[in-house]
Amino acid sequence: MQKFKTVVIGGGAAGIVAAISAKRKGESVAICDRMARIGKKILASGNGRCNLLNEKLDESFYNPPARGLVRSIFEKFGKEDALSFFKELGLETYSEDGRIFPRTNQSSSVLKVLEMELNRLSVSIELNYEVNRVSYSQGLFTVTSKGGKTIECEKLIVAGGGKSYPALGSDGSCYKLAANMGHKIIEPVPAAVPIVLKDRLCHLLQGQKITARVKAIINQKTACESFGDLLLTNYGLSGTAILDVSEEISVAINRQKTSDVLISIDMVPFMDRAALRSEISKRIKNNWKPEDLLTGILPNKFYFVFESKDLSIDAEKIVNSVKGRLFKVVETKRWNEADFTSGGIDTKYVKEGTLESTVVKGLYFAGEILDVCGKRGGYNLAWAWASGYVAGSAR
Ligand SMILES: Cc1cc2nc3c(=O)[nH]c(=O)nc-3n(C[C@H](O)[C@H](O)[C@H](O)COP(=O)(O)OP(=O)(O)OC[C@H]3O[C@@H](n4cnc5c(N)ncnc54)[C@H](O)[C@@H]3O)c2cc1C
Repeated sequence: MQKFKTVVIGGGAAGIVAAISAKRKGESVAICDRMARIGKKILASGNGRCNLLNEKLDESFYNPPARGLVRSIFEKFGKEDALSFFKELGLETYSEDGRIFPRTNQSSSVLKVLEMELNRLSVSIELNYEVNRVSYSQGLFTVTSKGGKTIECEKLIVAGGGKSYPALGSDGSCYKLAANMGHKIIEPVPAAVPIVLKDRLCHLLQGQKITARVKAIINQKTACESFGDLLLTNYGLSGTAILDVSEEISVAINRQKTSDVLISIDMVPFMDRAALRSEISKRIKNNWKPEDLLTGILPNKFYFVFESKDLSIDAEKIVNSVKGRLFKVVETKRWNEADFTSGGIDTKYVKEGTLESTVVKGLYFAGEILDVCGKRGGYNLAWAWASGYVAGSAR
């Protein structure tokens, strides 16, 4: 049986950085990953550009229950630490609207510098090693693969990711390992995910993209708001404005089984109601054809926004149908289309500042496997690097 001081389950963003920081402390370290290569999700991130950090980094960009834990980790490994970590590895970066990318605009550069460091440090990497059992006895963990291989270690870091994009490796299998060792799992649900609706308008306007202000209304209360791209599709809605409100919607629909979920869309956010009403009234007065009343304000096809019977030249009705049009949410898309996972190991089961389990000594968790979900904009990778670094160097 192979023995290492530290074993990391999962060679994603969090696991790779955990292995680097543990090895830099002089420990013998192995990464076990179920895939044929490590870091697949890093390669897919940011549409292949890898938005690896954000200029504004603090706990307020994460789900409220996780904020205390997130703060304690960023105090130890914040934005500047992450930037110097990557700079030392040779990665040049730049910032665009606060989002930080590799200068090459290629996520493969991020993975390459990490792999070079793993190689320089001689971290052992076990590929096609799907861990399906962990046992603990007298200060030693035995990590067993599906194929029956075993590795022993004194410190175990579980960084197996969430459930989104399972083809990239994270299939949720590590939740079971954590639950078997006594940790509570908050039901994982897809986040940063498109929304499915049954609405004639989506069908009529499929393929149209506008800039909109979006509100998620859950049980008759505004739960969150966003502003950005809105894409109408044959199944419903997508685009950054929708992805940004999708976590709250997904939690309500998929975890809390709420059926009263609406999306309100302001399709003309650059004009207030009075200005729009006055412009439409002017057009009506000048005898514009009903189907032209929104021309130049919205793309031509948006004539469909209001029913033809309602075109009885009523400016107020037209304003209502484009500023605050309500859509009833049916469901969210599933794991193959969700960038993030909301839910995972309850953050109350890990210690602030180290990420050690409160249940089993010597056991640590890092990355998306924890119930930590950040906003879009580099926040999930920021969490993966920071939590990996802290878990790897903690003792
Ligand atoms: C398409 C897409 C684009 C994204 N873009 C961005 C972005 O630009 N910026 C950003 O901040 N975030 C982005 N994210 C989110 C971000 O990539 C993740 O939050 C982050 O990579 C999570 O890192 P992790 O190490 O915790 O998990 P993962 O990267 O998922 O790694 C987990 C690893 O564990 C392995 N594993 C799982 N179970 C086992 C097991 N039982 N045994 C052995 N190995 C196992 C998997 O094979 C995998 O390699 C994106 C996500 C997706 C899907």
